[in-house]
Amino acid sequence: GFVPGKRQRHFMEVGGGARCFELSVARKHGVAGMQPNFIVLSRDITERTRAEQQVRQLAYFDVLTGLPNRGNFLEVAPQLIEQSSALNGFGAVLMIDIDNLKLINDHWGHQCGDAVLKHVASRIRHAVGPQHVVARFGGDELVVVLSRLGTEFDQARNTAERICQRILREISAPMSFASREHYVSASIGVAFFDSSKKSVDEIVSGADSAMFHAK
Ligand code: C2E
Repeated sequence: GFVPGKRQRHFMEVGGGARCFELSVARKHGVAGMQPNFIVLSRDITERTRAEQQVRQLAYFDVLTGLPNRGNFLEVAPQLIEQSSALNGFGAVLMIDIDNLKLINDHWGHQCGDAVLKHVASRIRHAVGPQHVVARFGGDELVVVLSRLGTEFDQARNTAERICQRILREISAPMSFASREHYVSASIGVAFFDSSKKSVDEIVSGADSAMFHAK
């Protein structure tokens, strides 16, 4: 499947480890009537590929929680919202704010606050399931896009409510680290969307003000 003049990347197992090679192929003019010859240059670009992945990870994912960061979220959210409303009516954006994270930092130190954030992020990820997107919006705020909640608003609202209750239940279970049990709560604001073409900013700011009411 080599195409002359095109660079191609291939992954291979070499000496027990996966390595990435870039192959450049050139056609060599041969003698008339003979099969054409090719020159293949192979370059090991494993380290470069790793560095590219690292840069991508840093640019698009939050270092602490491993979740997509705000930039990543704002890039993918418009497509998610459009696809969800085109296919199946309602969806919702949840804005989740951890209560009193500042107090935890002040009492137990920032390492403890970071650990709380990581636990909360992974519990939310677990509570919403793989079909929905979870991102870190910034600071102590996490955002969830619930897609395809159904064509009837009542049905969508009931499903969103059930998921919010599951999130709150998971977050409120004690977290054990640094030989202590920590109890955390969170506040959730919900904004529904349908095919009425609201912008992501409008939906997010609706969820944000609902979250402040909840708090
Ligand atoms: P804080 O550090 O006193 O920050 C208060 C508010 O200032 C934040 O509220 C946020 O609105 C703003 N702020 C602080 N740093 C930045 C920044 O770099 N960029 C922007 N745009 N705004 C910033 P927020 O986000 O609700 O956070 C509340 C508290 O949660 C923070 O109080 C801090 O105590 C804690 N927190 C937030 N992020 C982290 C984190 O990554 N690790 C830990 N351990 N605590 C965090």
